[in-house]
Amino acid sequence: MVCIQSFLIKNRMKKRTYHCEFPGCDYTTDEKSQINWHHIKPKELGGSNARYNRAYLCPTHHTKVFIPEATRGIHTKRGKDSIIILGWLQSTSGRVLEYIDVNEKVQYSF
Ligand SMILES: [Zn+2]
Repeated sequence: MVCIQSFLIKNRMKKRTYHCEFPGCDYTTDEKSQINWHHIKPKELGGSNARYNRAYLCPTHHTKVFIPEATRGIHTKRGKDSIIILGWLQSTSGRVLEYIDVNEKVQYSF
């Protein structure tokens, strides 16, 4: 006999909504293929897949991240609306993204 309640809970747990973590973006998707894993420290420079080294970004904003140390790929060019992600900080209300904005100022996105 199949327990409907446990089946529904199990399926609900499988579903996940991904949010673009670029400051000011409200893009969300339930499709993992529609969100990009951005490595704050690129893998070619020793960055890991650990959550502290990743930011979920929509395809548009993934191209707006500049990494000064990057040697290849989309993050080697700094556009006028690019940001530099410094990393994550932990606050009492959760993770906070620390980044450098287009005006060269360090900012925090909650
Ligand atoms: Zn976005």
